[in-house]
Amino acid sequence: MKRKYNFYAGPSTLPLPVLEEIQREILDYKGNGLSIIETSHRSTEYDEVHHEAIAHIRELLEVPDNYHVLLLGGGASLQFGMVPLNLLHFAGEGACADYVVSGSWAKKAYGDAKKLGTTNAVFDGRETNYMTLPATDAIKPSSGSSYVHITSNETIGGLQFQEWPDTGDVPLVADMSSDIMSRRVPVERFGVIYAGAQKNLGPAGVTVVIIRKDIAERSPEHLPDYLSYRIHAEKESLFNTPPVFSVYALSLVLRYIKQQGGIGPLEETNRVKAELLYQAIADSDGFYRCPVDKRYRSRMNVVFRIADESLEPLFLEEASKHDMVGLKGHRSVGGLRASIYNAMPQAGAEALATLMRSFAARR
Ligand SMILES: *Cc1c(COP(=O)(O)O)cnc(C)c1O
Repeated sequence: MKRKYNFYAGPSTLPLPVLEEIQREILDYKGNGLSIIETSHRSTEYDEVHHEAIAHIRELLEVPDNYHVLLLGGGASLQFGMVPLNLLHFAGEGACADYVVSGSWAKKAYGDAKKLGTTNAVFDGRETNYMTLPATDAIKPSSGSSYVHITSNETIGGLQFQEWPDTGDVPLVADMSSDIMSRRVPVERFGVIYAGAQKNLGPAGVTVVIIRKDIAERSPEHLPDYLSYRIHAEKESLFNTPPVFSVYALSLVLRYIKQQGGIGPLEETNRVKAELLYQAIADSDGFYRCPVDKRYRSRMNVVFRIADESLEPLFLEEASKHDMVGLKGHRSVGGLRASIYNAMPQAGAEALATLMRSFAARR
C-alpha cells in the first residue's frame, strides 16, 4: 500500500509507526487474548494506558505539579461550554468573560459563553476579515473579568499566536486544539488549556484539558457531574467510561513523540515545514497569495489562494495525482489549506512546495 501525504485539517495524519502498532495489538493486547478496546476501563491494563498518557503529557509539556491533566469526551466543542460553566462565576456578582475573537473557532467559543453569561470581545477581527491578531499587550482583562479566552491557532483562518498575553491574576484560557505539542508552551501562564486530540495528538474522541488545581476546585456544585472539572479531577478522568480507543492511540502517539526527542525537535521541523510553503508562496510573484498578516501566520495550517481562483480545482486535481490529499480550504472560506501538523513529515511539505512551484511555472 502507498500512503498518501495527508493534509486534512482534522482528523488528520498520524505517525505510521503508531498505526502499525495499533494494527499489531488490536486483536490481542499484550498477549491477554483480547483487545484493549474490549477491556474494562477499570482493569489494570487500561489503567496503565490511561496513566501513561497523562504522565507523558505532563512530561512533554512540562506541566507543573499544581495542574491536573484531564482526558475528556465531547471534543473541544464541549469545552466551549464547560469553560464558562465552571469559570464564569469567579469574579462574583456582575462577572464577565473576555474573549479574543480571532476567527471561526474563537467565534464558536464566544457564542457558547454568550449563552451562559456576560461576555466581552476584547478583540474582534471582523473588520480585518480575521486576517490579523491583536498585539499581546493590548489584551487586558476588563474589570470584573473571570477569565480571558484565546484560540492559540485558528485552524480555518491560518492565524497563530506567537506570544502570550499577560492577564495578571485573571486566568488565561486557551483553545490549543490545532497546535498543542507543536511547540513549547509556558503552561504556568495559563489557567486552562484544552485541545481535541485529532489534530496533533491522535484520533478524534478524546480532549486534553490542562487545568490549574485551584481553578478545578471552584467548579460550581450545581453543575451536572460530567460538566464539572472538579469531578473529573477527583476521579482522575475515570468518572465515566473514557474513550478508551482514543486514549490508547493518544498514549502511543505520545510515546512516539518522546522517542523522537520530545517537543524541541518537533518545533524545529514544524518551523521548517511551514517555511517551505510560505517561501513557495512568496517566490511565486503573486501567483499564490496568503491573506494572513505575516506576523501571525500559522505553522500548522497554511492557507493560500491562487490569484486566478479558477485554477484552484486544477491544483487540487494535480495534488491528488501526486498522492497529496486534504488541501481544499474549509467550506466556509474556500481556497486552499495545507495542514502540516506534527505527524506530517518534512518530505510531505517538500513534495507540496515542489508541486506549488512547478504548477506556478507551468501556468
Ligand atoms: C477542530 C477544532 C475545534 C473543534 O474540535 P472538536 O473536537 O471537533 O469539537 C475547536 N477549536 C479549534 C481551534 C479546532 O481546530
